[in-house]
Order: sequence, then C-alpha cells, then structure tokens
Amino acid sequence: MASRRLIAGNWKMNGLSGASVTLDKIIAGAAKLPAQVDVLICPPFTLIAGFAERARGSRVAIGGQDCHAKPSGAHTGDIAAEMLADAQATTVIVGHSERRRDHHETDAEVRAKALAARRAGLVSIVCVGETRAERDAGRAWAIVGAQLDGSLPDGAPDFVLAYEPVWAIGSGVTPSAADVADMHGFIRERLLARFGHAAEAVRILYGGSVKPANANELMTLANVDGALIGGASLNADEFLAIAGVYR
Ligand code: PEP
Repeated sequence: MASRRLIAGNWKMNGLSGASVTLDKIIAGAAKLPAQVDVLICPPFTLIAGFAERARGSRVAIGGQDCHAKPSGAHTGDIAAEMLADAQATTVIVGHSERRRDHHETDAEVRAKALAARRAGLVSIVCVGETRAERDAGRAWAIVGAQLDGSLPDGAPDFVLAYEPVWAIGSGVTPSAADVADMHGFIRERLLARFGHAAEAVRILYGGSVKPANANELMTLANVDGALIGGASLNADEFLAIAGVYR
C-alpha cells in the first residue's frame, strides 16, 4: 500500500464556466479531509487555468485528461504536457479507455504521453483495464499485464496507476471486491517485479462506477490507494462522500 491516498475526479467532456460552483464546494470539503488524502479534479482543458487559480492554496490540485507526446508542433486540437503545466495543472490522465477506444491510442502512445508528462514535470495517471469480453474469456490478467508492460515508462515509477475495467466505466456495474483486490494485488506484484521496492509507493487507483454506496467496500481493499471517479465527480456532495471514506 502507498502511504498517501488520491481521490481524482475525471470530468470528461463536461463543465462550462459555471461549474466553478462545484469546484468551490469540493475545495471547501477537501479542507476537512485527513492530511494523507490528496484531491484532484481533471476538468476539460478550457477550465484548467481558471480552476487552478481558484484552487490555489487549497487541498485540490487540477489536472488534464490527456496530453500529446510532443512539446509543440503542428497537431491541431492537441495539448502539450508543457501547456498543461503552464496552466498550473499538476497531473494528467493518460491512456483512459475512452481515448484508447475513440482515438485508437496504443500502449506505445500512452507510454510516450506518460514520458511527456514527466518531461513537463507533471504526474501521469496511467489507465489500464480489460473489456467485458476479455474478462469473460479469462484474459483480464494477460490484458492488464500487457498494458502495464507497454504503457508504463522505464525509470523511477513516478506515475499513478488506475485500474479501470472498461465494462465498469459509466455502467453502474463494478467487479466484486474480491476481483478488485485480486487485480490490484496482481498489478502491485507486476510493478514490484519491474521497478523494485520503489513500486511500493505507487498509488493504484480503482476506477469504474465508484459511488458513495460502494466506495467504502472498494476503496479500503488492500492495494487500493484511492479512486478515479467519473460521473460522481460532477456532483460535489457525491465526490466528497466518496473521499470521506478515508476520513
Ligand atoms: C472514468 O471514466 O474514469 C470513470 C471511472 O467513470 P465512472 O466513474 O463514471 O464510471
């Protein structure tokens, strides 16, 4: 287990400027959390700089949801890790299954993005997870193992890992607690084998339909060091109720 916890919200393509009301509530609630709990909100690119300004000096950090591997260039619509850092983001999600699916991102591209985050001084949250068909075929471990091998950069393990079964994202369905504990244990072993003792401090988040009702069961399992939360992070009360598991 890592010693610090991370509760991260992925707002995806949701949020206009009025959503600062939600951020303000999260900032107020986060102030009451124990010191070992870190809180992160990843809004759309358009809100990052404003949110970072609003959250300055608070317990809430602001992150991006993706970055390009290169620092600049002719890549219309893309965002460099350096640009996120310039907007005061501290962190960036890479390899989310929606990007792997919608933009056909490969493990090699995800790894390049994690390296770009490192280059820009950002922490990357590298996402892995199997589809329902892969789990039903008994291939979840092989798929996640291959994603870890291909998506994680070499060197010091300075990233956060998020295990997000694709079939649990936005579906209201989660794996059993036993299956989450099993996969997180598998991931920890794989990280230790590759990175040595330093991997003990890597935070492994669970993501996929985390709600206040299931947060306690899922987030207090061995090797679950926090959560990556989609839908429930858009509601400050729900997000803070989930974070409150670590109170
Ligand atoms: C996500 O997309 O990272 C996620 C975990 O979404 P949700 O919580 O809505 O399942």
